Amino acid sequence: MRSFTYERATSPAGAAAAVAHRPGAKFIAGGTNLLDLMKLEIEAPTHLVDVNRLGLDTIEATPEGGLRIGALVRNTDLAADPRVRKEYAVLTRALLAGASGQLRNKATTAGNLLQRTRCPYFYETAMPCNKRAPGSGCAAIGGLNRNHAVLGTSDACIATHPSDMAVAKRALDATVETVSPDGTSHAIPIAELHRLPEDTPEVETDLKTGELITSVTLPRPVAGVHVYRKVRDRASYAFATVSVAAVLTREGERIVGGRLAFGGLAHKPWRVEAAEREIGRGAEAVAEIVLAGAKTTEHNAFKLPLVRRTLAATLAEAAKG
Ligand code: SF4
Repeated sequence: MRSFTYERATSPAGAAAAVAHRPGAKFIAGGTNLLDLMKLEIEAPTHLVDVNRLGLDTIEATPEGGLRIGALVRNTDLAADPRVRKEYAVLTRALLAGASGQLRNKATTAGNLLQRTRCPYFYETAMPCNKRAPGSGCAAIGGLNRNHAVLGTSDACIATHPSDMAVAKRALDATVETVSPDGTSHAIPIAELHRLPEDTPEVETDLKTGELITSVTLPRPVAGVHVYRKVRDRASYAFATVSVAAVLTREGERIVGGRLAFGGLAHKPWRVEAAEREIGRGAEAVAEIVLAGAKTTEHNAFKLPLVRRTLAATLAEAAKG
């Protein structure tokens, strides 16, 4: 690990300014991803701005009937909150499907959204990787890419976003609130937070330098059956090969509508609203639209039938209530 300086921020705008005005500075909260990356020298911040004491660790009801989740609410606390468990069950289920108990105790709401890909070549510094070293190439294209993306990829990068929580928040139409170094606040629909890789895979979100996430707001609860189904190589402590966050409307034992977001398929949570209009016609009709434009490799072509089967299982589970 390379040496760095450290300060503890005392206000959100002060933290944002501290990062914006110091080249190479970064925020640190739970550190569950950043510290690993620093030990591997994939991340080498010159200065860390600790945001843990900013008081952004509460979950509050909003006047509109939703919930505002502080950026520093730990994943364990968010999953266990009675309002989340009752009204936003897909979020609790997604959180509990991620990482381990110890990691969830440290990991924060904002950090979970901003975690980096788990592409093995990104972590192997002897290999080319456009995300870690722009312009060096992509070892995953033509390499072992079984767990890589099939949607929204580019010739520069085929990495996936690893978060389960973000997939559920995409299905719930969450909004991310931020503060800029000049103290102004911004609201970003979660659909617009993460970017596709295109030719700059090292730029993963639309946040500006120093812009600090302060909270994530969920709109009013959406009625329906909440399901999070995650397919992975082992039963726990593994990232999604394919996941589905679903909030579905039932009539009798028929699923007639709802929302669907997918993980493990792209550089961001993947949701195609046009596909949701076909939910009443079944999994095949939905998958046809969701997977339009998919680009697979020899190793990850299995994800397309896996999406169809995971979706069918999700709809069947929801039909039983
Ligand atoms: Fe790097 Fe992306 Fe290629 Fe992985 S897929 S090696 S993260 S450029």
